[in-house]
Amino acid sequence: MGLCGLAVTMLLASSYAHPPENAFMAIGVLVMFGLAIPLLPFRRRGMLFFIGGTVITTGSLVLHTHGSGEFARTYLVILVLVAVAAGILSRRIRWLEKRTILLTLQAEDRAGDLEQSNRRLTELSMQDPLTDLANRRWAEKAFERHYALSPAEAPGQTAILLIDIDRFKEINDRWGHDVGDRGLQAVAEVLRHAASGTSGLAARFGGEEFVILLRVDGPGEARRFAEEVRASIERIEIEVDSPPRKLGCTVSIGVVVHAGEEKPSLSKLLKRADKVLYQAKSDGRNRSVLSGIAA
Ligand code: GH3
Ligand code: MG
Ligand code: MG
Repeated sequence: MGLCGLAVTMLLASSYAHPPENAFMAIGVLVMFGLAIPLLPFRRRGMLFFIGGTVITTGSLVLHTHGSGEFARTYLVILVLVAVAAGILSRRIRWLEKRTILLTLQAEDRAGDLEQSNRRLTELSMQDPLTDLANRRWAEKAFERHYALSPAEAPGQTAILLIDIDRFKEINDRWGHDVGDRGLQAVAEVLRHAASGTSGLAARFGGEEFVILLRVDGPGEARRFAEEVRASIERIEIEVDSPPRKLGCTVSIGVVVHAGEEKPSLSKLLKRADKVLYQAKSDGRNRSVLSGIAA
């Protein structure tokens, strides 16, 4: 509206000016008109209204003040040409704006997909594919982040359970690798369930060997937890077809509770757990043994 007013004022002024000033003023109006169409944030109807309004008001004004001579005819022809050119330019600009928004959204979408794929890849590289448990790498990272705590940093103690399936080779040899795999999955499920009810993390360290990382109040709690895990695994039944029967499965567990003033070290705990696990095996398997020495 303001621009229309300015255009009308300039045209009125041009009727009092002499050539060439009146022509310059008319050109000024045309330039303003031509720039306003693509640059102002018109909607489609608003733009048609603006073009129509300007053509009609300034056209009638020029006809009224300058008569239907050369000046008015030239002004009207240029006005219509400017309106058409500016309309086309404006549509092109709007199209480019829409396209830019679309491309930006697509780029954001792709970035989101990429981030999701990367997250999934990281997860996969940290997960054991057979059991879906954390793998050794994941457990090592988790240990550094959540379990490597000195008594001064957090109450409680870090404990580790090293869990090894008893005579697993015999299951594989007698019933086949597939049955062995199902046994590993069943044991993993028990460990996942046991750890999820605590602050623990269950991981497959390799072969038929698993680990649970845990925070406990003391050795008694760690031992009780290990015995619960052992008893739950004892209840596993692996179904086989020929001949149809249900196989049992047991584990031996080495339990170590960190008791020093320093931060616990995973490699030291594992070394100690390996020793007590060996003892559990020698003592007859299907048992847990707690390390009596501070790691
Ligand atoms: P122990 O009671 O002394 O631990 O005896 P074990 O037979 O369990 O121990 P050993 O180390 O002799 O055998 C481990 C077996 O685990 C040998 C290997 O074939 C099997 N194994 C390791 N990884 C896998 C796996 O991913 N799938 C299957 N089915 N078997 C596996
Ligand atoms: Mg074994
Ligand atoms: Mg083993």
